[in-house]
Amino acid sequence: MSKNPEFVKFDKVDKSYDGKVLVVKDLQLDIAEGEFITMLGPSGSGKTTCLMMLAGFETPTHGEILLDGNIISNIPPHKRGIGMVFQNYALFPHMTVYENLAFPLRVRKVEKDEIDKKVDKALSMVSLSGFETRMPAQLSGGQQQRVAVARALVFDPAVVLMDEPLGALDKNLRESMQYEIKHIHESIGVTVVYVTHDQSEALTMSNRIAVFNDGKVQQLSSPAELYEKPVNSFVAEFIGENNTFNGEVSDISGDKCKVKLSNAEILSNAISVKSKGEKTTVSLRPERALIEPSEKMDNIFSGKIEEVIYHGDHTRVRVNLLSNPEFILKVPNSTSNLELKLGQEIKIGWNSYDARALDPK
Ligand code: ADP
Ligand code: MG
Repeated sequence: MSKNPEFVKFDKVDKSYDGKVLVVKDLQLDIAEGEFITMLGPSGSGKTTCLMMLAGFETPTHGEILLDGNIISNIPPHKRGIGMVFQNYALFPHMTVYENLAFPLRVRKVEKDEIDKKVDKALSMVSLSGFETRMPAQLSGGQQQRVAVARALVFDPAVVLMDEPLGALDKNLRESMQYEIKHIHESIGVTVVYVTHDQSEALTMSNRIAVFNDGKVQQLSSPAELYEKPVNSFVAEFIGENNTFNGEVSDISGDKCKVKLSNAEILSNAISVKSKGEKTTVSLRPERALIEPSEKMDNIFSGKIEEVIYHGDHTRVRVNLLSNPEFILKVPNSTSNLELKLGQEIKIGWNSYDARALDPK
């Protein structure tokens, strides 16, 4: 059977808690069966509210949510077939690992033999076979979170919601858990809706990412497209590092434009601009600018080195360029690297197809 591309559907969903302010605005979002989709955005942008509505703990103010083609507004949370993992959704502290996992199955009236099998399978999925009789307090933070993941999966839910599930873990553990959750998703193919404010986590784990700001989806696309082709200044700034120039469109033809800065004119892709005279912020990823380029490039300017930081695999160079004192370059380190000195004047080049003229900041 082919996978349903609209397995979860938010159809024109608005949400207000106080009857005045909309914290989710006209959300239109289709999630495919088996997809790993992430809602990414700053704190307060409406991500948790969306999950709560999907889970059934909050009701949309307007619009509908559909699961596999059916409107779910009148279905209570425990009958939606949705598993959940939250940062603060603790395990039951007085129950063993086995009992924690058996709980959602007992609620669903599963037979004892079947419970044993399912608990076994879920624990092996998160590499915790043999931990059945432990109490949560006898587990590390990472192990507890793995049990929470197993508990969300144990009843074979149609969809699993995860809200900042790794937020409480330290960096190394968080990164290894990201791969673990991603691999579990790949092996069982359950639909996952994941929430995080951490862009690198979102890029690592997701098939698609919905970037939220102020209750609205700013862009919905694959991690690569989000990074390479941000559609507006918010996304360009929120995902990865971003060099910017503020100016005014001085010429535009097809998908290219010239942008006049106070002291120069640069060539760029025209993304959010349509006509001459419009204000714009041009966005350029640090690794797309080259120092002393040997090839011909559309934009070449001189700048002064303000800071040089060695990062092992690359060197991060901050340059004062065209009155932007915060222009960043990332230079891959190699044995033939140039000697970069503070105060040195260098030539910096980039191609217009790597620059994007977006809405003004
Ligand atoms: P995020 O998860 O992206 O941080 P939330 O969905 O939690 O954002 O919050 C979105 C907005 O809704 C915020 O302004 C928040 O203060 C408000 N909000 C969230 N939950 C409630 C609630 N239960 N009652 C009233 N306002 C809420
Ligand atoms: Mg939240």
